[in-house]
Amino acid sequence: MNIAAEHPAQNASVRTAKLLIDGQFVDSKTTEWRDIVNPATQEVVGCVPFATMDEVNAAVAAAQKAFQTWRTTPLGVRMRLMLKFQDLVRQNQKRIARTLTAEQGKTLADAEGDIFRGLEVVEHACSISTLQQGEFSENVAGGVDTYTLRQPIGVCAGITPFNFPAMIPLWMFPMAIVCGNTFVLKPSEQDPLSTMELVELAIEAGVPAGVLNVVHGGKEVVDAICTHPDIKAISFVGSTAVGTHVYNLASQHGKRVQSMMGAKNHAVVLPDANKEQTLNALAGAGFGAAGQRCMATSVAVFVGASKDWVPELVERAKTLKVNAGIEPNTDVGPVVSKAAKERILGLIGKGVDEGATLALDGREIDVKGYESGNFIGPTIFTKVGTDMSIYKTEIFGPVLCVVEADTLDDAIALVNRNPMGNGVGLFTQSGAAARKFQSEIDIGQVGINIPIPVPVPAFSFTGSRGSKLGDLGPYGKQVVQFYTQTKTVTARWFDDATVNDGVNTTISLR
Ligand code: NAD
Repeated sequence: MNIAAEHPAQNASVRTAKLLIDGQFVDSKTTEWRDIVNPATQEVVGCVPFATMDEVNAAVAAAQKAFQTWRTTPLGVRMRLMLKFQDLVRQNQKRIARTLTAEQGKTLADAEGDIFRGLEVVEHACSISTLQQGEFSENVAGGVDTYTLRQPIGVCAGITPFNFPAMIPLWMFPMAIVCGNTFVLKPSEQDPLSTMELVELAIEAGVPAGVLNVVHGGKEVVDAICTHPDIKAISFVGSTAVGTHVYNLASQHGKRVQSMMGAKNHAVVLPDANKEQTLNALAGAGFGAAGQRCMATSVAVFVGASKDWVPELVERAKTLKVNAGIEPNTDVGPVVSKAAKERILGLIGKGVDEGATLALDGREIDVKGYESGNFIGPTIFTKVGTDMSIYKTEIFGPVLCVVEADTLDDAIALVNRNPMGNGVGLFTQSGAAARKFQSEIDIGQVGINIPIPVPVPAFSFTGSRGSKLGDLGPYGKQVVQFYTQTKTVTARWFDDATVNDGVNTTISLR
């Protein structure tokens, strides 16, 4: 970790991530700062403060105050705010993508994809006037009607990971605030600058003071959010260890929590699959974003004769261009930090030690002009056993494990034994095989001839088992439920002619 000793604003060329409290972008008064480092060059592109507890409390207090008026702001006003916000994000997509690539490393095209997948959620938020509708039944008893209200819950908070600094914050604050809540966002400390550019646009779009607030930091700030008495709900996306901690701590403090966590995503290949499309999909989903997607394919399960395609998969992976994300035609950028690179190299070493075959070794990659970048080339292990560290651990790098299965049933059993449940893919031309697979596989998001089945925002992100804690997922209908509470009203209106039929001492409505 690279903690800057002093306030970096003394160095005018370095951008500092501001806090957003009560509508004002302010410099933190903290003494603890961390460098934001370009993963391709090691250039310091900015600095991020670890906010003080006073600053966290001020952000929550601003959100609590703003909730009193925001909760009753008309739906049309909230909807039009999102319409304006989506327009601004669209106009600024290329600028934000450049910031994102500089601080995170992914290719410019993929950075634009990161923003676009978030933008789709903002577009969906524009439909809030129908998404937040309640239900109504007339005459549930004589003269009695029952209806439900979907009311906002108060101050909500979001804690986001480094791998999608645009998409994942956009999963959270637009849907939370369009439902009438106020929000405190804690972006990843590794790449908060692109997130802040989106937040600036939200303020420009007209989000009122205190409705959206941002604090930066690490464990201390996260723990303060999880235990703050005025925060009602927390959305977390990140690793399994931290997500479990957040879920447990925040639940103990009475909050509603959704925690989307780590993964080990399998792609099952049947021999009847279209070979070209399948190999392209595996290479793209295994090595795109340098394997740093929660929905990346990290295990390819070749069933029966499809195992003969593995040498071609290795050749396909060799054709991917490893370079800085800013360079044209790059397929695989650097991993996010030197620490991440060391961790991934350690796991590759373990794979070799534990007896897997290194069919493609990306460790000694040489990237001209970017010699100090955190690059690892596409790496493929074959003969991987399910007891090996490379199978059991989320590597979160450009490393694909190849395993073999005799039958579709064996492949399904293998995937279902893995504790993670984020995503899975099946490659086949058989509708019957696909139907059996979708029915029997115990994974929350299934792709059929789709390697990264991240649902579009009219649906919800439905990772499962070890990849998720909490019932309701991000975006779609589920997140409207997450960010609202249902109030049920049972009402009888008397007219003056109603006959007084005496005292009712039973529980039945008459
Ligand atoms: P991370 O868990 O290290 O960090 C996530 C957030 O938690 C950050 O904001 C960070 O500041 C904070 N944090 C870090 N350590 C903490 C601690 N000890 N206590 C409290 N808070 C802490 O995750 P990451 O490395 O930024 O992101 C990669 C992980 O996120 C991978 O495991 C990936 O699978 C997962 N992820 C999951 C999904 C999903 O939808 N399931 C999506 C994207 C990423």
